[in-house]
Amino acid sequence: MADIISGKIIKGIGGFYYIDAEDGHLYECKAKGIFRNKKIKPLVGDNVNIEILDPENNLGNIVEILPRFNSLIRPAVANVDQTIIIFAVSEPEPNFNLLDRFLVSMEKSGVETIICFNKTDLSPDNMEACRSYSKSGYETIFISAREGEGIDRLREIIKDRTTVFAGPSGVGKSSTLNAIKPEAEAQTGAISDKIKRGKHTTRHSELMHIGGRTYIMDTPGFSSLYVDSIEAEDLKEYFPDIAAYTGKCRFNMCNHVSEPDCLVKQAVADGEISRIRYEDYVMIYNDLKEKRKW
Ligand code: GDP
Ligand code: ZN
Repeated sequence: MADIISGKIIKGIGGFYYIDAEDGHLYECKAKGIFRNKKIKPLVGDNVNIEILDPENNLGNIVEILPRFNSLIRPAVANVDQTIIIFAVSEPEPNFNLLDRFLVSMEKSGVETIICFNKTDLSPDNMEACRSYSKSGYETIFISAREGEGIDRLREIIKDRTTVFAGPSGVGKSSTLNAIKPEAEAQTGAISDKIKRGKHTTRHSELMHIGGRTYIMDTPGFSSLYVDSIEAEDLKEYFPDIAAYTGKCRFNMCNHVSEPDCLVKQAVADGEISRIRYEDYVMIYNDLKEKRKW
């Protein structure tokens, strides 16, 4: 009987899966036989049991996929603990509407999100607008990949978790990932050597092992934006800062748009809710209303 050990799929290409196993080795595995009667296909991020077929060459076969607690479609990845969405405070100017739509989609998928504003060294005029996200109900951190500010906090946040990094291009996502990595690079040398780094492309979902149980996935752009499939009347539940007021306004069913005596509008006027967030909420709400007519 071959040895059975557990591990995590960090990459899958053309029917081969690369498993970062508990013994510290990277195994190249197929998923032969066991999935015939099941609809479940192995996903990057899956925790699996593998049978070691050839210990010399680190070859094996996946014999079991352990239960997933969640999965995303784009990027295709299972067991995601959190997403970190990176924007720059400037260069490029943050697109807050895109950020809010992304937050709604992550709220819908049920994956915890942390907002990360990079390039604080540029100290631009719209810093206050970025700071207003600290009131959004999401942990919001400010970093400078260039100067190292906030990188320790970022390391703390990702420690022993599986994190998907998303963000528009140019915001400094690669610089941030590089700033996080050095410390870990030494520990994972064996693993990174096995995967041919030179051939790395972001077209495949791939988890980077940052030591211990810390994994990160770099994803270009954004994962699936689910905003379309939400009813306008439900949108308020996907804004944590606004959801806190559900049922508290004069009208029990208040959508906080044009109703009188609205506590959300009052909170915006008082500066308790970010005006940018609220305006994006109204814009998305109206978009969803419009779509229904079609
Ligand atoms: P990506 O497209 O999001 O991966 O962004 P890059 O990491 O390639 O960075 C895009 C540009 O922003 C590069 O010119 C970086 O040097 C610059 N950049 C990245 N981080 C910072 C930062 O913290 N401050 C400043 N001023 N520039 C940065
Ligand atoms: Zn209201």
